[in-house]
Amino acid sequence: MPGGAMAPAPDERVDVTGLSIAALSDLFAAMGEPAFRAKQLYKWIYVRGARDFAEMTDLSKTLRAKLEDGFRVGRPGVSAHQRSTDGTEKWLFRYADGNEAETVFIPDDERGTLCVSSQVGCSLTCSFCHTGTQRLVRNLTPGDIVGQFMKARDDLGDWERSDAGRRLTNIVFMGMGEPLYNTDNVIAALRLLGDGNGLGMGRRRITLSTSGVVPELRRIGEALAPQLAISLHAVTDELRNELVPINRKYPIAELMRAVRDYPTLKNAQRVTWEYVMLDGVNDSDADARALVRLIEGIPSKINLIPFNPWPGSAYERSSDERIRRFSRIIMDAGYASPVRTPRGQDILAACGQLKSESQRVGKRERLAMEAMRQEKEAAAGL
Ligand code: SAH
Ligand code: SF4
Repeated sequence: MPGGAMAPAPDERVDVTGLSIAALSDLFAAMGEPAFRAKQLYKWIYVRGARDFAEMTDLSKTLRAKLEDGFRVGRPGVSAHQRSTDGTEKWLFRYADGNEAETVFIPDDERGTLCVSSQVGCSLTCSFCHTGTQRLVRNLTPGDIVGQFMKARDDLGDWERSDAGRRLTNIVFMGMGEPLYNTDNVIAALRLLGDGNGLGMGRRRITLSTSGVVPELRRIGEALAPQLAISLHAVTDELRNELVPINRKYPIAELMRAVRDYPTLKNAQRVTWEYVMLDGVNDSDADARALVRLIEGIPSKINLIPFNPWPGSAYERSSDERIRRFSRIIMDAGYASPVRTPRGQDILAACGQLKSESQRVGKRERLAMEAMRQEKEAAAGL
């Protein structure tokens, strides 16, 4: 090599981050080790956040050496880590194959929420969403998904804290991608996140946001049944077809039926409806009243999200006054209707601004994006 520098050899050891207790037990069985050893390793990885087998002092020296040879406790690489003036943090994580996805930490008074990605890009094309302009590159694996959470815990210094003192208290699947187009991996990640003997996040502290993949709602309900957030954004099929094109496949009436069947509703837990406020598009008083009629009888909270612009976006954010009036109509009908304060805007970390590469978008690119949107929709059969 020029200059004599040797590139480090790629680490070919098996990454155990993201493996379930069953998978670890199989690995150990293949090595002739008893299952209780796998339990010990699981605890080191997911309860203590250990990265180094040498620390795992309740495993024999020989076993530690064997593990060191064949395995590693991985984390995604960090291409960028930014902190906003409001305390929001954004990581651009880089996976072993070079693909990147974003994760955002949003600290608040009494909670800290991590917004994780489920895919690199998205196959859907919601017209107001930055991620929607990007192709789907690949699904994130269970290890990639929990890796975002575990690396955030590393950087926030949370492993050493007791449950009550942790900075990261909640997790939302609201980053890049449609989690219910990657349901198998998302379910595996939810099982790890929710395991009381492992990462210990608890079902009520996990929220999954979906654009409305109706058949998958049942599966996720039968698996861990996290808290549900539905990206509604429009109250007529005509408008929703345009804003959230998956609506052409699963129209509003079908979506409402699936939500009414979701298991958490039986315990009167609320569904969150996400509604992006687009000036002159979906923000009239009539829209607000129709929204109230649509969700009648469903325990609900309506999260109004002021539109976050991104380079090349075609919409404007509704005025504060318009958002207040819209929210008032919903509150008068008896529902909570918080307006989501955009966070981390200076680092493009707010809802819908996430994208793998930061880029400036000119007119040519805007036209190319429109062509791509049509191509993606054709490919998705919408
Ligand atoms: N794919 C999933 C989860 C990721 S998007 C979904 O669509 O639900 C998380 C939330 O941000 C969704 O409600 C989405 O509609 C919203 N969003 C997307 N782009 C936005 C933008 N530019 N401004 C405000 N909210 C946006
Ligand atoms: Fe995909 Fe969600 Fe963005 Fe729609 S809003 S394009 S489903 S990430």
